[in-house]
Amino acid sequence: MTEEYDLIAVGGGSGGLAAAQRAAEYGARALIVERNSKLGGTCVNVGCVPKKVMWHAADLAESFRQASNYGFTIEQSMHDWKELVRKRDAYIARLNEMYDRNLLKRNVDWINGEAKLLSSNSMMVKGRIFRAPHIILATGGAPIVPNLPGADLGITSDEFFKLAERPQKVAIVGSGYIAVELGGVLRSLGSDVDLFARYDSILRIHDEILQEGALESLADQNINVQFKSIPTSLDQDGDTLKLGFESGAIFGGYDAVLWAIGRQPMSSGIGLGELGVELDGNGFVVTNKFQETNIQGIYAIGDLTGQAALTPVAIAAGRRLSDRVFGGMENRYLDYENIPSVIFTHPPIGTVGLTEAQARANFGEDVKVYTSSFVSLYYGVSDHKPKSKMKLVTTGKNERVVGCHVIGIGADEMLQGFAVALKMGACKADFDNTVAIHPTSAEELVTMR
Ligand code: FAD
Ligand code: NDP
Repeated sequence: MTEEYDLIAVGGGSGGLAAAQRAAEYGARALIVERNSKLGGTCVNVGCVPKKVMWHAADLAESFRQASNYGFTIEQSMHDWKELVRKRDAYIARLNEMYDRNLLKRNVDWINGEAKLLSSNSMMVKGRIFRAPHIILATGGAPIVPNLPGADLGITSDEFFKLAERPQKVAIVGSGYIAVELGGVLRSLGSDVDLFARYDSILRIHDEILQEGALESLADQNINVQFKSIPTSLDQDGDTLKLGFESGAIFGGYDAVLWAIGRQPMSSGIGLGELGVELDGNGFVVTNKFQETNIQGIYAIGDLTGQAALTPVAIAAGRRLSDRVFGGMENRYLDYENIPSVIFTHPPIGTVGLTEAQARANFGEDVKVYTSSFVSLYYGVSDHKPKSKMKLVTTGKNERVVGCHVIGIGADEMLQGFAVALKMGACKADFDNTVAIHPTSAEELVTMR
């Protein structure tokens, strides 16, 4: 017997959940197929949420370090990793249950199993056949493990969240979001961290001011960054692990080695090849601006499409797609420009829009940049004076702000509002005409000269 729906979302993560629930709001019969026994996908189970809980723990540790500047005597701040993990996982279990309840409330069905497409409008899940005129692929991605001898001895971010104990000495290979975030958490909670970058910087897709600021903050935290380091082997060395590099260098004594070199799409095993769904060279599903693949009735959203792999992006793409297909909003689609993001380091990084280099490549001489580097008032009472850094990138006679980049305390909560301004096409004069909020770090962004 074939079970009929209006929409089937493959993947019960950020994108699939959002698309199916929005479709159901319009009265569509929606089904989610999720191969994990829990809903929520990467973000809830092994991504944003557990990471942010651990970032808060690291943030507290950083505050304890500053506490004496504010008159506190902290006897000894012992940290219990197991307790943090227990509390974090209990919170996530509550979120998983909440997702279940939400689906029930909204009349969205879900089935635990792996989807295999049979045609452009049908699929098999655990021997049952489901059919729908609209199928949304939202299967996300998975961490990349390098192809080198002994790589299996290392862990990825997925296993990081399963660590029952904090490893004392850790090597992190990679230099993107996950490398700096998890490196920062481990270091703040007491681990010794070596971070190996392939080239001569970190966070290389971000503005230079953020790269500089992030390198300064890693040095400040005593995270040892090694540049131009391409690993070639990972070996057991007694109780610990050792990493070999192309240069011949060997670094060892590690209790854990974390691969953080990017993520790959979960596009195989679903039957996409058999159906002729177009993939790019890296296996990401190719879509047009309406999230349509080359096969009618099959759409793709979120990390699977390789564009801005962020939870709110997957959610926004899914909701807009359902608004269009089921809500009658004919021309609705997600504009991928000016998507803000935060990197949860210490201090955090907030960024939206073009880097200075991108702006110069696009607009040449027409680019004017404003920067600020200052010590936050928070460190006014401290001997330690780390710098916050900010940059506004503008173009044209009107100095339209096309990029806003901040590293410093509060950057994480600062950027959302500035992203609204950029999206609305704000110019430098609009920033200048806005009265500052004092004393804050954010006021620097409206007082730059
Ligand atoms: P996912 O959330 O990955 O969902 C895909 C789902 O599909 C999974 O549940 C999977 O089990 C299921 N699936 C796969 N194949 C099949 C199949 N064949 N059949 C059935 N089900 C299948 N983003 C942020 O915005 N902020 C952050 O702070 C942040 N932190 C992150 C930290 C880490 C460590 C990681 C790894 C990611 C982080 N991200 C963050 C990125 C964010 O998690 C992803 O962008 C987001 O989860 C993508 O949503 P998605 O729906 O595309 O895929
Ligand atoms: P990223 O793409 O952020 O970073 C991976 C980095 O690893 C690359 O920048 C690259 O840097 C380096 N790299 C790539 N291949 C190799 C290799 N073979 N050897 C050594 N280094 C290599 O990926 P992540 O895995 O950190 O995160 C995946 C995505 O998840 C992010 O892009 C982001 O979209 C999302 N995410 C978002 C977060 C947030 O919003 N706060 C947090 C975590 C993840 P280089 O080219 O300089 O070598």
